[in-house]
Amino acid sequence: MKRYIDLSDIGPVRKARVGRDHPKWKMPTAEVYVEVPKNVARSSARGSPLTSFRDDSKQLRDPEKSVLQHKNATCVTPRVNAVTQKLFTQALRVAQLPADLVDVPLEVRKRRVHHTDPTSIEWDDTSMTIPNHYGRVVIDGERYSVGDIVIVEPGYDSDHRRARNASSHEARCHDNALADTKWFCQISYMFEVQGASHGRRKMFHARWLQHGSQTLLQEAAHSRGLFWLNACDDVPLECIFSHCNVCPWRSGEPAPLDDEAGDPNHFFIGPTWDSERVAFVKSSAAEDDCALRKCKVGKPCVSCGIAALEEEREEWRTLPDDTISCSGVVYHPHDFVYLHTPGQVIGLLAIVQILGFIPDESGAVSQVKIRHYGRYDTVAVKHSRDEGPIPRDNRRLFQTGVITAVPVKYITGKAYVAGLTSPWEKEAFVRDNDHFYCDLWSESLRPASLDELEVLSPKPGVLQCTICMSTAMEAMLERDRLFKMFGPLKGLELFAGAGGLSTGMEMSGIIQTKWAVEFSPAAARTFG
Ligand SMILES: [Zn+2]
Ligand SMILES: [Zn+2]
Repeated sequence: MKRYIDLSDIGPVRKARVGRDHPKWKMPTAEVYVEVPKNVARSSARGSPLTSFRDDSKQLRDPEKSVLQHKNATCVTPRVNAVTQKLFTQALRVAQLPADLVDVPLEVRKRRVHHTDPTSIEWDDTSMTIPNHYGRVVIDGERYSVGDIVIVEPGYDSDHRRARNASSHEARCHDNALADTKWFCQISYMFEVQGASHGRRKMFHARWLQHGSQTLLQEAAHSRGLFWLNACDDVPLECIFSHCNVCPWRSGEPAPLDDEAGDPNHFFIGPTWDSERVAFVKSSAAEDDCALRKCKVGKPCVSCGIAALEEEREEWRTLPDDTISCSGVVYHPHDFVYLHTPGQVIGLLAIVQILGFIPDESGAVSQVKIRHYGRYDTVAVKHSRDEGPIPRDNRRLFQTGVITAVPVKYITGKAYVAGLTSPWEKEAFVRDNDHFYCDLWSESLRPASLDELEVLSPKPGVLQCTICMSTAMEAMLERDRLFKMFGPLKGLELFAGAGGLSTGMEMSGIIQTKWAVEFSPAAARTFG
């Protein structure tokens, strides 16, 4: 039994301001339709507070029309308005902030600017820490120190493609004149080099920052928000435009409202933008220290340190007792692994079993001897029987007689393959990602037809790495134990529509949608 409750019946909705739990914050009455799931409807019948709500669904002659033609303007908080006003042609209704919550504009320090043609760049010789490394420099009378955040003219780093991309980027920040025309960085250290044509050249190592409009946020970015990048370059000191006024933006605190006029040279710095992972990541002071310890003497740079740590993690190491490791994962003989061969851009990764490690002259493992396994679906897809298409099974593999050696760097993660035969065992095992089963055999990796696939002989069958297999089984048992103890996660879906997302989530078995909110009554009735 589904019901819709008009929340306007229960008066103004109280809502805490984002990031600040302030009881004074009030939103005007909103017209929101909520689908009440069966269990809540039942509990309301037993006398929960929900029984006091009036069920309006019978009184609405055409609820769909009523919702879509509602007279209330969309009402948003000032913060949402600041982000979205440039995205809509229609003005939004903005809830008023209580006077004591209005942000007071910060006083911005006026900064001297240079235009890549300073008349003097002088080292502060007293700041030389080690030969040829300086802590401070004076450019046309303005002092700059290691650790300062500065605004620079773009195009001075070694990556010219970056300069081109920046100037042609579609996302633009119209609210901050500096965001589109300048770059931002921190001075990590300063030094001097012998230039090809300029004589001695004064340089600094820059750890880059990116304006939010150049990240995933694009138009929705705060006009004063900068994010760290794990990228750095050596650039000449003459490209410095000015000091950058920055204030910290602590995790969990709201950003300043994006409606301040005034000096554009006023920014705050958020976490690190990782464009490869398409994520904003926060690194702790301890992690930054760890990265800095990887830097050479006199060249402290968090980005360089992180790159060194990554390189170290991705190195293949030969361990005692006939094992190798990479990125913290230890590989043993008989482990099943995915193989990523150079040039493979699309398609499923090959699955192979490690038969042994082949050391080079230095004793380090450089190659692995492997047995190839084929995917049943790649054979099944080419054939169809008279009675119709052959059912697919993307977890089914066939063992082959193909044995080769490949460079160890082609290995890219572990798979788990079991020689299971009973259907219930198979079903339980392949519930986990990276789990497969193998019950077939073919001499060739590319059999001409399904008829070439034979039933795999149980001896020797599929040999296992007992260490990895027991770890995988323990993880499965632990997950089952937790599932029995707590049941599936309970989900609330917002903007639910007809519930496609919930259907997918429920099919995973991990999440059970208990509540859903949808604006359109017709869509809500279709839900589930
Ligand atoms: Zn660096
Ligand atoms: Zn193993």
